[in-house]
Amino acid sequence: MKLILSDFEEGIAILVEGTYDAKTIEVEYPDMIYTEPILLKGEAEKGPGILRFQGVLTTAVKRFCGKCLKEKSEQLSCDFDWIFDLSGKDTVEPLENVRELLILEHPLVHLCREDCKGLCPYCGIDRNEGTCNCKGNGYYASPVIIKKAKSNKERNHGTS
Ligand SMILES: [Zn+2]
Ligand SMILES: [Zn+2]
Repeated sequence: MKLILSDFEEGIAILVEGTYDAKTIEVEYPDMIYTEPILLKGEAEKGPGILRFQGVLTTAVKRFCGKCLKEKSEQLSCDFDWIFDLSGKDTVEPLENVRELLILEHPLVHLCREDCKGLCPYCGIDRNEGTCNCKGNGYYASPVIIKKAKSNKERNHGTS
């Protein structure tokens, strides 16, 4: 989305609307997938040497809990109020601002809820939904023993 400055008159706010495709602007994470285009809607106004663009960014995402892996669809809505310096410009491209805003929306670890109990590492049950006896009765899955493959030495019958 580009704002063309010759469309603006100083001191007069114009309604502006535009979309971005999350796939092409590199804001997706493996645990945060965009399911709708990123829509910007607001008012832009030119002032002396600046352009102010304020409004709301809306989109929809699917997030995956970092502990129990449950997925959840969510509507995102963020207010923005950006001021662009116009020196030497004919157009304003708010892409970098959009990226910054969305990256802030992505926490290091997303949890479906603050006290998510996660999955039992032994039986895989979702501890938010049920309990298991893995810890209570001292049962632990036995470690996997990997048999070593026969070493090359024993199979070496010479090279010729
Ligand atoms: Zn969870
Ligand atoms: Zn368990």
